[in-house]
Amino acid sequence: MRGIANKVFPVTYPYGKPSLKFANKIHNAVDYGTPSGTILFPKFDSNITKIGRDRFGSRYIQFASNDLLIEYWHIAKTLQPVGKLVRESTAIAVSGSSGAQNQPHTHVTAFRNGAVFDVRLLDVPPKQTAGNAYIVVSGDTLSAIAVRHKMSLSRLLDLNPKYRANPSLIHVGDSVMVSALLTPSFYVVKAGDNLTSIASRNNQTLNRILTNNPALKSNPNLIYPGQRIKL
Ligand SMILES: [Zn+2]
Repeated sequence: MRGIANKVFPVTYPYGKPSLKFANKIHNAVDYGTPSGTILFPKFDSNITKIGRDRFGSRYIQFASNDLLIEYWHIAKTLQPVGKLVRESTAIAVSGSSGAQNQPHTHVTAFRNGAVFDVRLLDVPPKQTAGNAYIVVSGDTLSAIAVRHKMSLSRLLDLNPKYRANPSLIHVGDSVMVSALLTPSFYVVKAGDNLTSIASRNNQTLNRILTNNPALKSNPNLIYPGQRIKL
């Protein structure tokens, strides 16, 4: 978790251990040792979706983006109103110990499509990247992958149209494009090709092809197998 000047705070109680506050419950969050008064930032560009206080007096701020939703608990005060669009660099709250029974800390709960998960998964660096692709690991969603690669979900879907029909349907081992493919710089003409079909096959316009290949302008129909067309 980041605070003032990108200082990283240690985890003081992890996800998945027995709750220290409630008997027979699991700690479905991560506690970070933020001293009182630490300025807190959102994990990603998002929308402030809720601000509140539970019956134990614990204040929280909630923010969301796509299918990800995160809450910071035990805060002293909020710095942004509900409905505000905030950047990763926007101060949204000040940490404290409201409702906490021990040291000041920030209890961070994360949900993906409503299902709670260990927020530290978002901090896993995208090191499985091979070339332009990211290889999906267990627990990934397209939204989380988009966040980690600092792009919107719609941009990720533009790069990966195969997921458009059902963005929640990804599998471990899938290869997800996370940056634009370099288009091949040349296309080699095959029998039966024409410039219009070559253009559409390479996501280009005929005009663009002609601009890149001025020699073809005088007679765009005169191409031959084996000829190299600059894309
Ligand atoms: Zn906690």
